[in-house]
Amino acid sequence: MRVQYNYDFEIASLIVMVIVFLHFAFVRQFPSDKTRVFGMLILSCMFECIFNIASCIGLANAAHIPQIVNEVVTFAFFVFEGLSSYLIFCYFAVQGEMRGNSKRLVWILGTLPFALFEIFAILTPFIGFFYYFWDGVYYQGFGANFGYWYVICYFVLNLAYIAFRRKVIGKRMKLIVLIYTAVAVAMIAMQYRVRGILMTSVGNTIVLLMIYLAMQNPNEMIDAVTDIGNESALMQQIKSRLRQTKGLKLHTAEFAVITVRIRKMHHLNALLGIENRNAILQDIGSFLYKLGGKFHVFHNSGDMFTVIVDSVDRSREIRDQIYDRFQKDWGVQQNRIVLDIAMAVQYYPGDFKTVPDYIGLRNFLLEEAERAGADAVVESSSELADKFQRRNKVELAVAKAIREQKFQVYYQPIYSLKEKRIVSLEALVRLCDEELGFISPDEFIPLAERDGSIISIGAIVLEECCRFLAHHVLSNASLGIRTIQVNLSVAQCMRQDLAETILPVLEKYHIPPSMIALEVTEGAAITTPEQMQRHMKELGEMGITFAMDDYGSGNANCSYLIRFPFREVKIDKEIVWAYFDNPAAQVVLENEIRTIRKLQIPLVVEGIEKIEQSQIMEQLGVDYIQGYYYGKPMPEQACLRHVRQFNAAAENYA
Ligand code: C2E
Ligand code: CA
Ligand code: CA
Repeated sequence: MRVQYNYDFEIASLIVMVIVFLHFAFVRQFPSDKTRVFGMLILSCMFECIFNIASCIGLANAAHIPQIVNEVVTFAFFVFEGLSSYLIFCYFAVQGEMRGNSKRLVWILGTLPFALFEIFAILTPFIGFFYYFWDGVYYQGFGANFGYWYVICYFVLNLAYIAFRRKVIGKRMKLIVLIYTAVAVAMIAMQYRVRGILMTSVGNTIVLLMIYLAMQNPNEMIDAVTDIGNESALMQQIKSRLRQTKGLKLHTAEFAVITVRIRKMHHLNALLGIENRNAILQDIGSFLYKLGGKFHVFHNSGDMFTVIVDSVDRSREIRDQIYDRFQKDWGVQQNRIVLDIAMAVQYYPGDFKTVPDYIGLRNFLLEEAERAGADAVVESSSELADKFQRRNKVELAVAKAIREQKFQVYYQPIYSLKEKRIVSLEALVRLCDEELGFISPDEFIPLAERDGSIISIGAIVLEECCRFLAHHVLSNASLGIRTIQVNLSVAQCMRQDLAETILPVLEKYHIPPSMIALEVTEGAAITTPEQMQRHMKELGEMGITFAMDDYGSGNANCSYLIRFPFREVKIDKEIVWAYFDNPAAQVVLENEIRTIRKLQIPLVVEGIEKIEQSQIMEQLGVDYIQGYYYGKPMPEQACLRHVRQFNAAAENYA
């Protein structure tokens, strides 16, 4: 059968494909599963088209060409034809971002028809499956129709797959699959009727164009200031590396991520102006780009650069080179400046397995570096990883305890040295987690402050205190408890609506506001002094009093006592303990006590564990004692019993 084929459609398709290919190859694309498969797909489609045209020309001129040439060209066409349909499926399959066993199943199912097709293609020269040559002439083989079933099989697989992963695959991609299937079916139907005109590549070209147009604009991956990858590019790179090392293992599994954070970036803006700052960022970007190479360097936020390094050994060199470079100055002429950085290094797969893990650990390491001072490099280590893990676990335990209302409140007696009895209690929150056991508030309160859950904890503690007061203290005047001291965190004090979170609870339980004393640390006073003054005025007018907590630790000093209407000062236990074994601390504390007494503000001293300590404090003129000597923090019933017995004994003694 000698047919003269018309391949005009193929030529037109080839031209379009070449243009798309050139554009794809020359525009900077961040490599990902999608771009890799797309690159292979477009190459395969181009080769399929070229061999199709070549075989038409060859067959038309069979008389002048050795048969073997036509056989090889036709064979190549069939190989690529099979490959193209398969790669189109692969392209859709990577959109589904699958993992684990279901991923393996999809790949096996999806590859099966392709493998079968290629086996038949390879056998064809021997058994004449798709075609055979006789006397230089091309004839369709007994399995020629298999080719149609093959593409139809992939249409079905494509459609089934997008239905299966409809939650993950975007609308645009679904539309592409539908349009592609419709166009390709139409092409095949036409091809079936008009056998003389070749249109195999038209369907391919249409799908390539659609995919390419729908592909992410590569500029969306580039940071406008430094012209290197941005946050999206970094996340895409990390994700794609994590996926690959799980499945196909195209890449070496190990890699390191170096994060460089410029400290006090906002000063840079003020100091240099935006333009000069951008020039410096560009310098840093190109310096890192030279070190790290294409697709490995990112400016992923205003003050942060990231370098991905493919080998751990090389990452050490790069880390040192970055460190050395930052010892020197940046910028131009009179605008030169030495930048202070914090650097974090983490390794895959040892340190993280998922993107959230990577980000969590990175931020943790940067915080550690930040704490370590200027130009600190913090490399992840098993010790830091443990610390990070512990922190995560505690944060989770806190979240769980909030959800399940599992916080408990203990009460610690406060003893009046003048009245010789217990007159108030401090409410102290307790957390006992099923897995972690007892967690000290010193550990979880700072974490809760960081992620804002302290607000919920504060609300729980207040509600619990009020319930306790209503049920056990208000109705029981003989107990002798006048006030309850409740700790307020900095975050609570920063809230505009502090009063609205407190007063309704007091009303609900009919608690006189004068029974509540709120303890705040200097942190709250420093952070938002005006707000704090407003809170103290508003709540003070209702009758609630305020105590300055942790006095003597940190920077708390008399100036706060002048600026804010504190009705009580609590001296921190660390200072008290220092007093008993350090003469210098003695001088300091005695001075402070004298000053506070002159200001006529009642004084509480924490951490008193022995009678002698209490006596010394009494001589110094302290008013109240809170310490294990007069009672540890206790659950409410135990505390009530303790107070009753203690005060009864005191009365008898008197
Ligand atoms: P703080 O406000 O300084 O509370 C006093 C701490 O000293 C309590 O520790 C108490 O158990 C401990 N303490 C008192 N007397 C002695 C003593 O004689 N010896 C020893 N070794 N320790 C003594 P706790 O309960 O572990 O609380 C630690 C910190 O956690 C508190 O320090 C406070 O800053 C914070 N905290 C506790 N509960 C809450 C709360 O409900 N809200 C907020 N925002 N913070 C809380
Ligand atoms: Ca306190
Ligand atoms: Ca304290």
